[in-house]
Amino acid sequence: MKNLGSTTQLVHQDRLVNPQQDGAVHTPINTGVLYHFVDAQGIVDAFQGKKIAHVYGRSSSPTTSALQQMLAHQHKALGCVTFSTGMAAISSTLFALLKAGDHILVSQFLFGNTRSFFHQLSGFGINVDFVDVTNIEAVKKSIKPNTRLLFCESLANPLTQIPNLDELGELCLAHHILFAVDTTMTPHVMCEVSRFPISLVFTSLTKYIAGHGQAMGGAVLDMGVYDWTQFAHIDELYKVADTRMWGLTQIRKKGLRDIGATLDPTSASQVMLGQETLALRYAKACDNAEKIVCFLSSHAGIKKIYHPSLETHPQYLLAQSQFLTTGAILAFDLANGVSPVEFINALKTILCATHLGDTRTLALPVAETIFFEFAQAERDAMGISDACVRLSVGIEDVQDLLADLAQALDSVQ
Ligand SMILES: *Cc1c(COP(=O)(O)O)cnc(C)c1O
Repeated sequence: MKNLGSTTQLVHQDRLVNPQQDGAVHTPINTGVLYHFVDAQGIVDAFQGKKIAHVYGRSSSPTTSALQQMLAHQHKALGCVTFSTGMAAISSTLFALLKAGDHILVSQFLFGNTRSFFHQLSGFGINVDFVDVTNIEAVKKSIKPNTRLLFCESLANPLTQIPNLDELGELCLAHHILFAVDTTMTPHVMCEVSRFPISLVFTSLTKYIAGHGQAMGGAVLDMGVYDWTQFAHIDELYKVADTRMWGLTQIRKKGLRDIGATLDPTSASQVMLGQETLALRYAKACDNAEKIVCFLSSHAGIKKIYHPSLETHPQYLLAQSQFLTTGAILAFDLANGVSPVEFINALKTILCATHLGDTRTLALPVAETIFFEFAQAERDAMGISDACVRLSVGIEDVQDLLADLAQALDSVQ
């Protein structure tokens, strides 16, 4: 397996790593909830962590375990825990690791629901500071003795700000701070996370990885970088055996088992199916995105475009060195006071929907939807203008997308 390319590995992994007794090529969907132990000592050992075994469907199942192995392998991670959604992965993991009195640093450019969750965390006695993660000096200045975690997105949604993963990672390592990065917007075929000193990778499986708008899921991956013996809140119960596994064990027990946002095996199977074609879909979507950016750049109906392929992007050079492509998410501000709602209503092929990473191209009026709950001042600080439209570019034939954008822009001028 080791010498195979990543897509070859993917499409042969279930057959080679988890061979089925009946020769089934795909990992079957196993919806069984309970597991029988012929010898009661077996269940005792499983509960006490002396033996790895499935005991109950909330904690694990053969299908979700196969997906976790696949994700860990693709990300070159130490291990992976999956959840019912991306938000469940983030919230359950942070509840498993943080305690009242902790200080955490959070990117000020975040997916709206994640930001809303961090507001909630502050209600539980965790001190949350939002920082500009593209400014390393600002991050340095915000570190306190009780800072436990720095959370950011590898590419922020919708304005595509990019943090320097090497610099932030090294800074966190030096201070024993967990460096948690949500890579939903840059799947591993764009950002090889193992190249950077990242402690925990979060990803919404719902988006690019499942890819077809039919299944939800989320994952956290431990990249094997963080020294858990330095973490203040590992429960004595989990300080056994390999110190590298302490974090994942606590996330599995306090996060997945106790909070219970389990990924169901049917969705896990759909995610695995989606993952097989990720590299193909993503290459096409990124290519389409670059052509759309090119077209919009010279159009009078557009005031500003946000996409890392543009030399005017503030982190253009960083994007070139940090990522393998420039991605399939872009945003733009409409010119001449045209409202995003009016423009999106004029689109015929491109859908209006709040999702990203789908096979279909999707458009969204940003300020009035995902950032609606935030005050104007907060939106201003995040750089979200009222004229902003987000596009998640899909795999359609690009000439159809360009024609649709052109006719919609013409019709609203
Ligand atoms: C969608 C999204 C999430 C949440 O994922 P769900 O599977 O919808 O819960 C988290 N982070 C980012 C960047 C996202 O785009």
